Amino acid sequence: MNNTEQQALFIIFGGTGDLAQRKLYPSLFNLYKRGYLKNHFAVIGTARRPWTDEHYHEVIKESIADLSDDEEKANDFASHFYYQSHNVNDTNHYVTLRDLADKLDEKYGLCGNRLYYLAMSPRFFGTICEHLKTQEIITKNGYNRVVVEKPFGHDYESAKALDDEIGSVFPERDVFRIDHYLGKEMVQNILAVRFGNSMFNAMWNNRYISNIQITLSEALGVEERAGYYETSGALRDMVQNHILQIVTLLTMNAPVSYSAEDISREKINALKSLKVYNADEVKKNFVRGQYGSDAGLKAYRDEDQVASDSMTETFVAGKLAVENMDFAGVPIYIRTGKRMKEKATRIDVVFKQMPVVVFKDSCLKSDVLTINVDPEPGISIQLNTKKVGQNFDTESIDIGYSLSDEQKAEMPEAYERLILNALRGETMNFARWDELSYSWKFLDSIRKAWDDEDLSVDAFPNYACKTMGPKASDELLEKDGNHWEF
Ligand code: NAP
Repeated sequence: MNNTEQQALFIIFGGTGDLAQRKLYPSLFNLYKRGYLKNHFAVIGTARRPWTDEHYHEVIKESIADLSDDEEKANDFASHFYYQSHNVNDTNHYVTLRDLADKLDEKYGLCGNRLYYLAMSPRFFGTICEHLKTQEIITKNGYNRVVVEKPFGHDYESAKALDDEIGSVFPERDVFRIDHYLGKEMVQNILAVRFGNSMFNAMWNNRYISNIQITLSEALGVEERAGYYETSGALRDMVQNHILQIVTLLTMNAPVSYSAEDISREKINALKSLKVYNADEVKKNFVRGQYGSDAGLKAYRDEDQVASDSMTETFVAGKLAVENMDFAGVPIYIRTGKRMKEKATRIDVVFKQMPVVVFKDSCLKSDVLTINVDPEPGISIQLNTKKVGQNFDTESIDIGYSLSDEQKAEMPEAYERLILNALRGETMNFARWDELSYSWKFLDSIRKAWDDEDLSVDAFPNYACKTMGPKASDELLEKDGNHWEF
């Protein structure tokens, strides 16, 4: 792993937007503070608003205000930013963009390396990529990489069309599809825990694992994203990408090496092994929900830009089946939703209970390995031990590891890590097209079954705010003799 300074020109489409201001500029600043970006970088932010460079610098400084009390450093960082007012549908603007890009390339010594960050609606991706090519913004002497955001399509067909548009300009190795969960420290830790410990490596299969549980719960409602959310729902917004990526990391076979190629191959195999459900199976194995009003909080149907009879799901729970040798028969329970009890991302691997032979009068619990991704990154293991005292009883204890404050300060934020990966050309933590194609096919079967089902308007809302979702989500596990650990 090299810690050297990166040389590149960033062209951020959607430079005035929320993502750019909340995530991209702070992440670039952290890379700058850590020395990955120094003298040889420049950023062109583009959008339609007629901002000046001076105003853009103020916006940049505002977006990094929490990260720096060193004014000189903040000014120096901001001086690398240039604003170009640009409508992505207007060819003439790409000519101006090319001239500015070439000028900055020379000024900062960027060797023709360009990273195009498409921080705007996917409906513009096709026209942007086409213009980058026809207007010769793509350089011949350096690398040209494109970073795209979710949502990557609405279903398999639209994702394929989007991928074709991007793929007609950028080869797969230069397309970096962001799934920011893959940039999280503890999600990356899944492979270290699985393949770095003989104990877990030996037990990571259906002989020892009873079930796996993945929870991505959010405390907030839809906030100002309701317009988008109405067309997406929890299934497309969270399951197709983040949850399925976590499922593959938990159930894939060991890769030949820790390389993007080998890991992706095994992730694709895991996705291929995921059972695609028919309508009856969807009904049996999936639960959807929508939050009602409670504790002074609005019901989803009362949020701005949401239809009063909206049937959009704000909660999904499901039982997935990975049909490979090691995981056949192990239920993978997933759960995500808005306005739940707390914001958390957590994985529980529940091991099979020991037969009650030796300690007949004791109540042995299942061993559980918990990977806490957010908000407090850490790992804990629940084990049965002897209860202190004269008698012989057992009790369940937790052995925990959580990141120290120093480690947390060192820990790069997901976007910071992923941007550096893209600069280095490391594709490991990005979703490949093949992965997306299998995940969309899996998802489409659920969506279709739900769309075909004539669910009554009264079926929603079916869970109160600040809870862990509808009762049916608990029943999904109870049917199997299991329960949510979290
Ligand atoms: P946003 O705040 O609405 O920003 C959209 C950007 O696109 C603005 O800079 C807008 O600037 C620009 N724009 C719109 N039409 C344009 C045109 N014809 N020509 C040039 N620029 C145009 O959206 P966002 O929240 O930043 O999200 C951007 C993308 O990232 C979306 O696809 C979103 O789904 C995805 N995403 C966002 C987040 C997040 O946290 N925000 C998280 C994950 C994924 P002007 O109005 O000045 O033109």
